[in-house]
Amino acid sequence: MKEKSAPGLNFIESIIENDLKNGKNDGNVVTRFPPEPNGYIHIGHAKSICLNFGIAGKHGGVCNLRFDDTNPGKEDVEYVDSIKQDVKWLGFDWGERLYFASDYYETLYEYALKLIKKGKAFVCELTPEQIREYRGTLTEPGKESPFRERPVEESVELFKKMKSGDFDEGSHVLRAKIDMKSGNLNMRDPVIYRILKAHHHRTGDKWVIYPMYDFAHGQSDSIEGVTHSLCTLEFEDHRPLYDWFIKELEIFAPRQIEFARLNLNYTVMSKRKLLQLVEAGLVSGWDDPRMPTVSGLRRRGFTPESIRDFADRIGVAKRDSTVDIALLEHCVREDLNKRAKRVMGVLDPLKVVIENYPEDKEEELEAINNPEDPDSGTRMVPFSREIFIEKDDFMEDPPKKFFRLSPGKEIRLKHAYYIKCVDVIKDENTGEILELRCTYDPKTRGGWSEDGRKVKGTSHWVSAKHAVPIGVMIYDRLFTEENPGSSDKELPDLVNPDSLNVLNGSLGEPSLKNAKPGEYFQFLRQGYFCVDEKLSSSDKQVFNRTVSLRDSWAKLGKKRG
Ligand code: ATP
Ligand code: MG
Repeated sequence: MKEKSAPGLNFIESIIENDLKNGKNDGNVVTRFPPEPNGYIHIGHAKSICLNFGIAGKHGGVCNLRFDDTNPGKEDVEYVDSIKQDVKWLGFDWGERLYFASDYYETLYEYALKLIKKGKAFVCELTPEQIREYRGTLTEPGKESPFRERPVEESVELFKKMKSGDFDEGSHVLRAKIDMKSGNLNMRDPVIYRILKAHHHRTGDKWVIYPMYDFAHGQSDSIEGVTHSLCTLEFEDHRPLYDWFIKELEIFAPRQIEFARLNLNYTVMSKRKLLQLVEAGLVSGWDDPRMPTVSGLRRRGFTPESIRDFADRIGVAKRDSTVDIALLEHCVREDLNKRAKRVMGVLDPLKVVIENYPEDKEEELEAINNPEDPDSGTRMVPFSREIFIEKDDFMEDPPKKFFRLSPGKEIRLKHAYYIKCVDVIKDENTGEILELRCTYDPKTRGGWSEDGRKVKGTSHWVSAKHAVPIGVMIYDRLFTEENPGSSDKELPDLVNPDSLNVLNGSLGEPSLKNAKPGEYFQFLRQGYFCVDEKLSSSDKQVFNRTVSLRDSWAKLGKKRG
């Protein structure tokens, strides 16, 4: 079946447009986002969320949020709550359509009975090892279970007993009766129900048998009237099985369409591996700002707009590929460039005394909030005789192309004055630079010289007696290898030991005292930052650096023409 994409539509949208044109499903479009609540969702899930909600929105349809909670023990309400919060934060609304596969347990049980009664399912007493053995391989056909031909009534009875808890875990399973010789291993009499004496986060201890994912997923879609069931490529081989269930049960048939999952370099994207990082204490939690989880990205300062833009740009494909994480960073830079208020923060301060500035004088200098946003206005920044600049904005013995401050050289202090370095004060024993002595030119107020004299360097700064201490967290990639998912090394050995750099001596301009949790800023020349909700306190704000200003993606784009 080949369907051509119309211009401007991706292949999934083209299929949907075609179905609409042909009057399928009475013109309805229903999609769903079906997470298993066994972890916090990551940027890959975000792609799926944007795709499912986006497509429904674009074609006048609706999108359900359904938790595929068929795995008690691994699942938890903590995860349900976090996933709901994350979907909302990304900007999507499931309205009244919040569902749980566990709400369908009764129906699914009835479906299973129906299959047994049709002679299409049987209770099997092989051990899990035997079932695996009998299954065969890709090159060898499987072997039929000795229980396969047991009478229908016997299977019905045994299945009911499984349900009432008469048997031990692993002693009995319900299997579909399809074809042990099928070239598709999923069709070789797959297990559809197993005994699990586990507590479920919603149904409690009511059930001791649980449907396998493959038996729950397609039927849940059908029960909800999902017209287009979008899933990742690894489910392509499961589609014949899902179609078989739907046909045998004679219920509404959703159309499954597979797309390539998102892979990002320098990232792992499996809840199992992310959980491993959390449990081993390699990160501070699911929402550690280095994590590719939605909650981690939010804490780091990524905006919902930037993530939606990213999802748009990567689009959907039929073949797996790996996306450069620099593109995600590019998206957030573009967004914050338009919106983030510019402020001055000195991450690693070096004291500067301006010798010809009166000791008791203070003045307020006007600073523009965002040159990209004419409505953003200005604010006043205090200036005085003692200021701090960035340590690496000074070099005593600079190489040729160093345009920042050095002895005898002049630079501009942003929004303030030109200063010239006249002396360097050092620790007598260690030689460490403790302080610079400078002079300023009163005829350069605002950072522009009346005589048209130019300087090459501009530094940000804070006034010593007005500055507020701030905490700063600088992040680097969480993994040292570009493709940690396929490395031979163990996950802990792949974690970048320098992925977090905590700065404790940083200083911010006084306006930062009122910064609110989640608020984002551009620290001039240092990057985009946002206030960390967890680490900030009333007397000290902690800022996460979302990204630096260096845009390797844009550079790459330019190089490629
Ligand atoms: P993980 O292996 O990370 O746990 P999963 O597929 O098992 O992922 P689910 O909770 O079952 O996690 O996924 C919910 C939905 O999100 C599914 O429809 C799945 O296809 C989609 N999804 C998961 N990972 C990605 C990804 N990397 N790219 C795109 N979609 C994804
Ligand atoms: Mg899954």
